[in-house]
Amino acid sequence: MFFFDPMYIVFLAPALILMLWAQARVKSAFAQGMRVPAQLSGAAAARYILDQAGCQDVGIEETHGTLSDHYDPRHRVLRLSSDVYHRQTAASVGIAAHEAGHALQHAHNYLPLVLRNAAVPAAKFGPAIFFILFIVGMLMQSLQLVVIGLVAFAGVLVFQVVNLPVEFDASNRAKQILTEYNIVDGDGAVAVRKVLNAAGWTYVAATLQTLLQLLYYIFIIFGGRRD
Ligand SMILES: [Zn+2]
Repeated sequence: MFFFDPMYIVFLAPALILMLWAQARVKSAFAQGMRVPAQLSGAAAARYILDQAGCQDVGIEETHGTLSDHYDPRHRVLRLSSDVYHRQTAASVGIAAHEAGHALQHAHNYLPLVLRNAAVPAAKFGPAIFFILFIVGMLMQSLQLVVIGLVAFAGVLVFQVVNLPVEFDASNRAKQILTEYNIVDGDGAVAVRKVLNAAGWTYVAATLQTLLQLLYYIFIIFGGRRD
């Protein structure tokens, strides 16, 4: 099966290396940022930012896991991991403010967020549709079905591409607001920037991975296949 094709590793290597590097950076920036004090806990900072923006109805909950922080648009609630929720550090307020940034985007119908949410089904079902159409297309010797499968797979890439401005905007809002409200000082702002920039690179790496995966599938379907 093509899953064990060494060419697969060759295609994906740049994305995998970038991802490992980005994840290592997130880890070290987070550990560093956890040692830099901030004026508020992550939860208090997020509450303050949301209230200032008129989003009193957005809730904040504590959730399990490390770096599991996210904004749930369906329930309009920020879920913050324990360290982010409780601790008064630059890393905590940086991540909390980033998630609050998503809530602000949602409240203001920020266009890239609307597009990203519209692309969620494409990202969810694209890979499964691709694999089914790829196998059925191969069995029926129908290139057309395989190509439709490829288009479905490209839906994942569309989602990830429109997600990039959403993530970068949330981080930019966070950096700006934390300094503006004096929740972090100069050192804190540097630590916040490091954490959020590192996290941003993981999204770039994931997008690159999908792009290279798509190119690999095109490569094996349209030529270059040697047995
Ligand atoms: Zn985000």
